[in-house]
Amino acid sequence: LPAAAELAARFPLTSNPAPASDADVDTVMGSLSFGVAFTDHMVRARWTPARGWHEHRTESFGPLTLSPAAAVLHYGQEIFEGLKAYRHADGSVWTFRPGFNAARFNASARRLAMPELPEEDFVASLAALTAVDARWVPSVPGSSLYLRPFMIATEPFLGVRSAHELEYLLIASPVGPYFTHGFQPVSIWVAQDYHRVGPGGMGAAKTGGNYAASLLPQQEAYDKGFEQVCFLDAATGTHLEELGGMNVFVVDADGTVRTPALTGTILEGGTRAAILQLLRDAGRTVREETIELATLLEEIRSGEVAETFACGTAAVITPIGRLAGEGFDVTVADGRPGAVTTELYTTLTDIQYGRREDPHSWMYRL
Ligand code: PMP
Repeated sequence: LPAAAELAARFPLTSNPAPASDADVDTVMGSLSFGVAFTDHMVRARWTPARGWHEHRTESFGPLTLSPAAAVLHYGQEIFEGLKAYRHADGSVWTFRPGFNAARFNASARRLAMPELPEEDFVASLAALTAVDARWVPSVPGSSLYLRPFMIATEPFLGVRSAHELEYLLIASPVGPYFTHGFQPVSIWVAQDYHRVGPGGMGAAKTGGNYAASLLPQQEAYDKGFEQVCFLDAATGTHLEELGGMNVFVVDADGTVRTPALTGTILEGGTRAAILQLLRDAGRTVREETIELATLLEEIRSGEVAETFACGTAAVITPIGRLAGEGFDVTVADGRPGAVTTELYTTLTDIQYGRREDPHSWMYRL
């Protein structure tokens, strides 16, 4: 990729760049709740069949003007991404594998019959926003600037077909750790009555509808006292897929690490891919395969499974201490973070925050 400063020029600041946000940066930096405060600017571009991508620009963060007939509001033609900008000790700002997210964004675009955005434009938008809103990248340990690229169908048209007018936008939100209790095990409810995706559906795409499908099971799990939901495959209801916003891993007592294979019904996480690489680098046996719920419960009870954890950009790596559903409730080992989980967390966050060598050149300087 070209240097960030060169790419950022693709999204010039508009003539009216005065910050619209009335959030006080110091107040926001003092609390850093996930996804509630936004920076001063946003990046935009428009797409039409005749002109392709055009009107690339950076402007004040503020409400959108959208026709009530815009297709996104009716048929959910929408995709998004999530990545972070990390401040290193020397003050520089970096992001993690933006090319992975650009490629996943385009894979989602293809599934939703939307136009692809060139990888360099995707990365350019990150560079443009973090340049103009650099003061919003926090430096408190464990904090970052969460970057949310998304694409919506803006065409005012109620027919059901892919829209002919779309917008790409990027907004950003300074965040602290996703779970307020930090690196502590979470409890998981396994949903048996609901599925978020099905075979041939949109599970491998990052699109709003999949998250809408997870809200009711998530709410019911909260009401039962659990923090997250794990979904099973819709075809057989017997094997683990992923959480609403995180991939899942199992560590066997013999050191083997397993995660559900990419079957088309789960989202391929960038964190998942990085963890698989780090484990292979360390010479561990890793397997991407079907993980049967019934077998897993047996293995947790017998001690053959020593650790379970979830992973994603927002929450990084989160130990799973307890797994429950209709008719079962098991604690994984002693319910505390395991050694492999803890080591992976340390290695990955050290790379992201520039505290150790980055052997795969995952970090890109913004
Ligand atoms: N699965 C789902 C459904 C997600 O929303 C996310 C978050 N993007 C993940 C997995 C983890 O992906 P990543 O590691 O790229 O954040």
